Amino acid sequence: MNRRQIFSVPMGLGASALLSPAQVKAKAGRPKNIIFCVSDGMSPGVLMLAEYFSRIARGKGTRWAALMNDMTASRGVQDVAALNSPVTDSSSSSSAWGSGSRINNAQVNVLPDGTKLTPILELAKAAGRRTALVTTATVTHATPAGFAASQERRDDEHLIGLQYKGRVDCILGGGQKFFDPAKRKDKRDAEGEFRQAGYQIVKAKGDLLKADRSKPMLGLFSDGHIPFTLDKAAVPALAEMAGYALEAVSGSSKGFIMQVEGARVDHAAHNNDIAGQLWDQLAFDDALGVCLDFAARKGDTLVITTSDHGNASPGLNGMGPEYTESGKCFERILKAKSSFELLPRMLGSRPTAARVREVIEADRGIVLAAAEAEAVAQAAGGRKGISLNRGQDVALGVLGLVLSNYYGVGYTGMNHTGEYTTITATGPGSLPFEGLVRNTDVFGRLTRYMGINHKNPSMTPEQAMQFNSKVAAARLSAPSAWGV
Ligand SMILES: [Zn+2]
Repeated sequence: MNRRQIFSVPMGLGASALLSPAQVKAKAGRPKNIIFCVSDGMSPGVLMLAEYFSRIARGKGTRWAALMNDMTASRGVQDVAALNSPVTDSSSSSSAWGSGSRINNAQVNVLPDGTKLTPILELAKAAGRRTALVTTATVTHATPAGFAASQERRDDEHLIGLQYKGRVDCILGGGQKFFDPAKRKDKRDAEGEFRQAGYQIVKAKGDLLKADRSKPMLGLFSDGHIPFTLDKAAVPALAEMAGYALEAVSGSSKGFIMQVEGARVDHAAHNNDIAGQLWDQLAFDDALGVCLDFAARKGDTLVITTSDHGNASPGLNGMGPEYTESGKCFERILKAKSSFELLPRMLGSRPTAARVREVIEADRGIVLAAAEAEAVAQAAGGRKGISLNRGQDVALGVLGLVLSNYYGVGYTGMNHTGEYTTITATGPGSLPFEGLVRNTDVFGRLTRYMGINHKNPSMTPEQAMQFNSKVAAARLSAPSAWGV
C-alpha cells in the first residue's frame, strides 16, 4: 500500500482496511451469539500491568493483550461518560450499553425524569434468544443489572433480582442475601419464586459442575460478592462459571446473548490493592479465554471485551537509577498472600505500628520503614491528614501509598476515573467496534444483530439538568463539555 492509499483509508475502518475483502466480509457479518465481557473498573494501563504480571506469575501472556496483536480483531477505545458526569459508575455505564441511552450515575436504565428504559436482555428474551449473566459481584450488582433490569436506585438489589426471573436463563455469581427470605428485609421468598419458575438453585461449586445444563439456573456462590481470587475461597472461578453458562445457553437455534463480568478488578482498585487487582484481572482473562475458544470453535459468535470505566488509574513508576528497579519492585507483588479486604480483620481496630509491620511482613513479605508503619497505624486509627491526596486519606489508601514505594505501582485516588476504556471485538459483527466507540452505540448494534427494532428514549445533559437537584445542577457547570 502506498502513501496515497494509506491516506485514502475510509474513516472508521482503521486496521480493518488492511484486511483482505474476505476477512472484512467475515467481520461485517451478523453474529448468531453475542458474548460481552467486562473487566469492571479496569483503567487502560492495567492491560500492560496484567500482561507483565501474567508472564512472571504464570509464564504466559494474556488473551486480551494477544487480541491487541490480532489483525482480524477490532480494537479501539470507548467513551463511557455518564449523563451527569464525565466520570461514570457501573450502573450508568452498563445501562448505556443495555439501553442505548446515557443516564445519571447510581441508577439502572431509568432516565432522570423516572422514565424506565427496556434493557437489552428483556428484548433478546422476547425475540427468542437465550440470555445469561455471569459475574464475580452479586448477580444483582450494577453491571449485570444494566443488561437486565430497570431500577431507580442501583442499591435496591433485592428488587433488581426479582426482574431476572423468566428474563435471564442462566444467572451465576454472588448475592444469596438478596434471594434468601431469611435475609431479605421484606422476607419475600425470592429463591422459592425462582424455583417455582423452573430454575435450579445451586450454591456450591460441586453442584454447579454436575447441574442440568438444559434447565434455567440461579447459581449464588456467596452471600455478597464472590471473594477475591487471591483469597482462594472454595467458589467457582469466573472461567468455570462462564464455561457452564456457555454450555447452558448455546444449544438454541436462535442464539444467545451473555454478559461476563470480572467485577472485583474494580473493588481491588477502590482499595488501591494491586495484588488483589491483578489476580482478578487474570481470572477475568481466563474467562475471556473460555469465551474466545468457544467463539473460535463456532465461528458464529461475536465476543466484545471492554471495561465500563477506569478506576484509580494504576501505573508502574520508574524506580531506581535509569528505572532499572521497576521490574524488581513489580515482582514483589507475587509474594502477596491475601487481598486488602482481609487486612482490617488481620490488623484489628487501632493497630500499633509494630502490629502493622508484623502483618505486612507476614502477608506481603515486605518490611515497612518505621515511619511508614506509623502512618498506616495512624490512618487505621482514624487520623486524617496522613495523605495529602484527600482521595486516599484512609487506612487502605495510605497503605497503598506506602506499598507503592516497594511495588512501584501507584494509584491516583480511590475512585473511578474518567478515562477512555479499551474495547476489542472479534467474530462476525466486530467491524464497527474500532476507533473511538461511544458506549450508547453498543445497544443499537447488538439489537440490530439480533433483529430487534427498538429505540429507548434518551435525554441530553441539558434536558436532564432540570430533573437533577439544584446542587447537582450547579456541579454541571459545563454540561456540553462531555458531549450529548
Ligand atoms: Zn467501582
